[in-house]
This record gives sequence, C-alpha cells and structure tokens, in this order.
Amino acid sequence: MAKSKITLTPDIYFANVCPTLNMNIRSELYSTNEFTFAVAVILSAQATDKKVNEVTPELFKIAPTPDKMLKLGLDGLKKHIRVISFFNNKADNIIKLSTQLKDKNSDDINYKFPKKYHNRVELMKLAGVGQKTANVIMNVLWNAPNIGVDTHVFRNAHRYGWVGMAENTPEKVEEKLLKIIPQKYHAIVNHVMVLHGRYTCKALRPDCEHCPVAKWCNASEKNIL
Ligand code: SF4
Repeated sequence: MAKSKITLTPDIYFANVCPTLNMNIRSELYSTNEFTFAVAVILSAQATDKKVNEVTPELFKIAPTPDKMLKLGLDGLKKHIRVISFFNNKADNIIKLSTQLKDKNSDDINYKFPKKYHNRVELMKLAGVGQKTANVIMNVLWNAPNIGVDTHVFRNAHRYGWVGMAENTPEKVEEKLLKIIPQKYHAIVNHVMVLHGRYTCKALRPDCEHCPVAKWCNASEKNIL
C-alpha cells in the first residue's frame, strides 16, 4: 500500500527507470518467430520466464511453426513442457492455436501472424490468448500501445499509488493506467515494470538501495530512508 502523498509519478518513474534497462530486448522469453513467441507467452502464464526458457529452445527446434507443432502432436508437446505449471491445459491450447493458424504460410520458419490478428479482439479468439497474453504479444511484436497487466504491473501500480482499491482486476488496472501514464510510454509499460518489478521493486524485500526512483518513492514497502 502506498502512503497518501504520491510523488513517484508515472513520468518520473519511466524517465528514470528506462535508462537503467536494456530497451532493445523487449522480452526475456526465448523465441524464434512470432508463432514461437506467442507459444512462449502462453507457457509463461503462472510460470517464470526462466522456467519457460529451459524447455523452449529444444521445443522450438522441433516445432517452430504451427504445422510442425501439429506434427509433434499433443502427447509429443506435453513431453517437452511437462515441467511447466498447467502443462496439460497449455498443451491443449497450443495445439488448438496451431490448428486455428493453419494456412498456406503456417510452415514458414519466419512465421508472422496474418494482419487480422494485429487486432486485440481477433487475437483473443485464438486458443490460450487472454487479454494479458494478447497485450504482451501486441506490445512486443507490433509495438502496440496496450498495457499487459501481469503480477509485477498489478502489484507495483498499487504500490506506487497509481491505482487504488477500485482497480482490483488486471482489466481495471489497465484501463486506469492507460489514462494516467503518458501515451509515449504505453507500449513499454509492461516491459519496464516487469523488469524493474522482477529485479528491483520485488514483491518481497524490494532492493530500494539500488532503485533509480528511490528519492521520489513513498511506498510503505520502501526499506531505506
Ligand atoms: S524498489 Fe523501493 S524505492 Fe524503488 S520503487 Fe520499489 S519500493 Fe520504491
């Protein structure tokens, strides 16, 4: 919970955190093309990027396209991802997604989504693609100004006082953040808040001593004076 006085504004936050991060890498998930990136994002739900990256290099060697994923099949896919949480459900979705994407280009090693999926409503019609997954895919692949609200974005938007008790779902947090964060940052909000939240402003024991916005921060979790 943040104290009532907010001095860490979104402008101050992004202006000072961005220069400390590698902004060329838009996701820490391993991928080889747009299809494998979507598969990696689906696998990362309630799992760490690190865990997902342990299995995907081998999987994507064998199944880098929707056609090859279908060839690998449900049981073959499960064997590769069984260390990932909810692997049964995720495998079902990835096979369904591959079926939905099957067309004349779906065995292209440099697979790109057909243009109609650059739209969130259309993208969310694909199996395994909820709002958060769609936002991350659109941000990273197409620089779209959506805000993917994952655990780090949700926690720290509340921690900094940018959203309140009323914003109790990822959808409501996204709606509020789109209003209060300057538009020039929208496409990078997820990336920046995930990295800063993962390594510095962590859920437990945030590393305030090395935080680039410590002097503006009023969060009650701040552990330096
Ligand atoms: S790491 Fe500490 S100082 Fe930095 S934003 Fe988080 S709580 Fe505030």
